[in-house]
Amino acid sequence: IEANIVEDITEEDVIDRTIRPKTLEDYIGQPQVRMQMDIFIQASKMRGNALDHLLISGPPGLGKTTLANIVANEMGVNLRITSGPVLEKAGDLVAMLTNLEPHDILFIDEIHRLSPVVEEVLYPAMEDYQLDIIIGEGASARTIKIELPPFTLVGATTRAGLLTPPLRDRFGIVQRLDFYATRDLQHIVSRSATCLALNITESGASEIARRARGTPRIANRLLRRVRDFADVRASGHITDEVAVNALNMLNVDTEGCDFMDRKLLLAIIDQFVGGPVGLDSLAVAIGEERNTIEDVLEPFLIQQGFIQRTPRGRIATVRAYRHFGLEVRSGKD
Ligand code: ADP
Repeated sequence: IEANIVEDITEEDVIDRTIRPKTLEDYIGQPQVRMQMDIFIQASKMRGNALDHLLISGPPGLGKTTLANIVANEMGVNLRITSGPVLEKAGDLVAMLTNLEPHDILFIDEIHRLSPVVEEVLYPAMEDYQLDIIIGEGASARTIKIELPPFTLVGATTRAGLLTPPLRDRFGIVQRLDFYATRDLQHIVSRSATCLALNITESGASEIARRARGTPRIANRLLRRVRDFADVRASGHITDEVAVNALNMLNVDTEGCDFMDRKLLLAIIDQFVGGPVGLDSLAVAIGEERNTIEDVLEPFLIQQGFIQRTPRGRIATVRAYRHFGLEVRSGKD
């Protein structure tokens, strides 16, 4: 059994590597981000500088890691990857920084979760390519400075608002990724299908795109599951009908809401009579972490107009009621 699991993970990994875009040109959607990054990359290459530090924010699965990889690839430099929670001690970060080559990119995922001591190390490193190391204690303590090669810090976060202001201010470039339009997701599904040599119609790709929660990672995941369904039931041919049947089987509804989205909406509607309801009560009601609600569930539901955030809490909109074919109760929206 264990061998199977290992194989499974590897296959998904291989697929992921095959379909992950490697150039800005293949980075679909996010036109503003793409245009700006193209200019900033070209400019710093012309000048022979390291690219300015870059902060990428947005909900999970929208392409933050992919963009960091692309930037490294386009700049022709190495990408070193770590994350906020992994960097426990100042020394962990010092070790990564002192191992960088000129113009390399250090990618810190979940950068809003850095501990304060680690963050302190970053300030002079980002600002002057320097480390201030304190040696000794008390009266005999002294600081020595270590020069670092010019490098680029790329930070990714699901919520830019959680970064401390001094850290946020040290990023010269800030990019915010938005949920993708269906049209762009369709393009991503078609491109992934081509990479995997799958047989899919345009309307089949569009059906998957419509239900992907505005998120490339979900679009690609749904494509893999629909492919399973098509292989078993439809000789591998993904038409819109096959896609619809597969997606219904997977419990993905026509607006792209998944099980947890529906659970959250129904909790507001049924248990809290449409709201307003506070985040903590909602978290208890659906058995989810506050963070998951704020980082993953809510951004999409707000963007789609299913819930609203008010000073007194979250409320379900008319659109949410309609989505479930329910009568709107008085006083809502
Ligand atoms: P994040 O780091 O924001 O959680 P990732 O960068 O890991 O998201 O993206 C998830 C997957 O979605 C990637 O494996 C990639 O294949 C796909 N993807 C993300 N953004 C794009 C894009 N703009 N164009 C095409 N595919 C994308």
